[in-house]
Amino acid sequence: MAHLTNTAPTAELQALDAAHHMHPFTHGAGLADKGVRIMTRGEGVWLTDSEGNRILDAMAGLWCVNVGYGRQELVEAAAAQMSELPFYNTFFQTSHVPAIRLAERLAQLAPDPLNHVFYASSGSEANDTNLRLVRTYWEMKGQPQRKAIISRWNAYHGSSVGSGSLGGMKGMHAQGGMPIPDIHHIDQPNWWSEGGDMTPEEFGVARARQLEQKIEELGPDTVAAFIAEPVQGAGGVIVPPETYWPEIQRIVDKYGILLIADEVICGFGRTGNWFGSQTMGLRPDVMTVAKGLSSGYQPIGGSIVSDEIASVLGGDEFNHGYTYSGHPVACAVALENLRILDEEGIVTRVREETGPYLKERFESLVEHPMVGEAKIVGLMGSIALTPDKAARAAFAADAGTVGLICRERCFANDLIMRHVGDRMIVSPPLVITKDEIDTLIERAWRSLDEAMAEVE
Ligand code: PLP
Repeated sequence: MAHLTNTAPTAELQALDAAHHMHPFTHGAGLADKGVRIMTRGEGVWLTDSEGNRILDAMAGLWCVNVGYGRQELVEAAAAQMSELPFYNTFFQTSHVPAIRLAERLAQLAPDPLNHVFYASSGSEANDTNLRLVRTYWEMKGQPQRKAIISRWNAYHGSSVGSGSLGGMKGMHAQGGMPIPDIHHIDQPNWWSEGGDMTPEEFGVARARQLEQKIEELGPDTVAAFIAEPVQGAGGVIVPPETYWPEIQRIVDKYGILLIADEVICGFGRTGNWFGSQTMGLRPDVMTVAKGLSSGYQPIGGSIVSDEIASVLGGDEFNHGYTYSGHPVACAVALENLRILDEEGIVTRVREETGPYLKERFESLVEHPMVGEAKIVGLMGSIALTPDKAARAAFAADAGTVGLICRERCFANDLIMRHVGDRMIVSPPLVITKDEIDTLIERAWRSLDEAMAEVE
């Protein structure tokens, strides 16, 4: 069998990559000189690159490799399903065993009354489904004027035209004709950067009340849904003040609008429960899932919806679907992944053991002179870099310059952390051990020291 790794020297692969491969969210110019880092293997929380470096992946790939790299059970589940039935669709009154079994399992795991799954291959696709699904729900209920969807600035819900519009990334909206109509944004609950003189508790309520103001401004009977990540991930791991979610839940209940919890990052153990909604105390009508559903071993996502929504949509045909909705190989791998998460007690371990340990170690980073706040829920956390802690100041340089320096220092120290502006993020595989957490913190501290020396 032809192996795709280690077939050529790194420089040759880098040149080919620069010549032919267009990368997501990457400055193309300069890649040829700089060269991409080429990953070749993974085991647990460790990656190996084409130069033989062993790197601690504190980002679980892209927040997704929850059970860690190198799980042979997932390889075997994929191979067995490929041999038996590599593909069949789920359109036009057909189904297959992996799609049925996975839907059953997701209905068991999701909080009641979320018992029905519409499959996609990614989080973006699932959020595109949600966009049409919630509007179609209201149309079928005889309220077609309910089209508006409210989201938050700096939210990330995907990269397709629909999901990118739902998201609140201004850099994305500036390109290619987004957002599409009838999507509205309110401010994020980022106390560190935007809280001013308010206490975090006051700020949490104030930011939640923006939802009520927006509903009133648009007209309550025109609003279909509010969408949010329980903890904003790609926006910089923004952990909301404790007062935020209860107030949001009160408002969506008061106005009877649907709540879509985007669990693409928070789902499948990341926050110490199966879903971030459970950790944050939300009662969503729809949950978006992807990433950790298969630990990234296969592309799969979906929308898990309430009994009420499923019964309304089931009353007619929902003219929507993807060729790979419920792909059998992806479903088989996801099922096996859920078995591993459950039977190895990984979610419980995050809640009771590794989560509290990482919290203690991660929050100690706030003692570093360049770190203003350290926030963490389960195994997703961020630190804010600052030149002046007391003032909660941002660096004068373009936002993100110092974060980028820090990310590069981490890389040089064989640690993958991501930066969003001047926040540094961790979201390691859920199988990380306490020793590996110690290594993570030690490398992060060293990288912060080196970044600070570079900035001064
Ligand atoms: N929703 C959230 C919260 C995400 O973090 C992401 C991706 O990072 C998406 C949706 C989009 O998922 P995908 O990249 O699988 O399309």
